[in-house]
Amino acid sequence: MASEIEVSAMRRAVVLSTFGLGGTSPNPPVGCVVLDHGGRVIGEGYHQRRGEPHAEVQALAAAGDRARGGTAVVTLEPCNHHGLTPPCRQAVLDAGIARVVIGLADPTSQAGGGATRLRAAGVDVEVNVLADTVRQVLRPWSHALALGRPHVTWLYETDGRGRITSPSQALVRRHRAAVDAVVDVHGRISEGRPGAHGQTAFTLTATTVTENLDHLLKTLHAGGTRSVLAACRPDLSHRLLAARLVDQAVCYAVPADPSGMGEPVPASWPDGFEVEAVEPTEGWVRITATPSRPDTGTGQ
Ligand SMILES: [Zn+2]
Repeated sequence: MASEIEVSAMRRAVVLSTFGLGGTSPNPPVGCVVLDHGGRVIGEGYHQRRGEPHAEVQALAAAGDRARGGTAVVTLEPCNHHGLTPPCRQAVLDAGIARVVIGLADPTSQAGGGATRLRAAGVDVEVNVLADTVRQVLRPWSHALALGRPHVTWLYETDGRGRITSPSQALVRRHRAAVDAVVDVHGRISEGRPGAHGQTAFTLTATTVTENLDHLLKTLHAGGTRSVLAACRPDLSHRLLAARLVDQAVCYAVPADPSGMGEPVPASWPDGFEVEAVEPTEGWVRITATPSRPDTGTGQ
């Protein structure tokens, strides 16, 4: 059982991991907190972009010698392979960490086994701590892993009569920082946070929308894109929906105009979607919905 302090540290690690969204792809966003043997925080870290230190390495570097005998709390299982950086399980062993608390096991076979190797080396390992919460941050990454294409979020507005419109620039700005790529109303594709991924690890392999959307998404995936914000015109979003290429719908609805008698039933969230949250905010109601069909992402 994870202690209360460890669960609190995992909450913090989840928050840290979100700062990597829109920058780490094709790697997952991961956060880590290192505790000393008395349960005090001595290091924090998160993965920023591919080719740079992983979360565990950052947090262990911050902790230094105090990590010996301590606990590493990390959202995703430490990797066990030599990629662009050495395996994190070795960094954990070298630091003399006694216990590792993991949110989710790593579903990639290449990296799998970090927990096994740590256990074999005598480290106390616990997995599935706040797993559902961790999964929310990792959802686009694990979805892309399962589907072989980026996770697609459709962002749109509905007007006073419930008609679907393209999202405003302000709304797009609010949402684009957390994704790898954005499709705008002109069908142009750009990096969510310009320059966030660095130049060597990530390539935006398409800059305009093409006819074959499935092929377009696979092309983007090949360059490292794992999440796409479709902030596009309604005609394109309807094509994405028809092709079942929308993984999350985020609708901003303005208050209803009560004079619409005799018009078609207004839009809300798409057919076949289930609502995750309805959040009234100033001037808007934000509705977040996901397809209710069986999810092919890992673990959900
Ligand atoms: Zn790693």
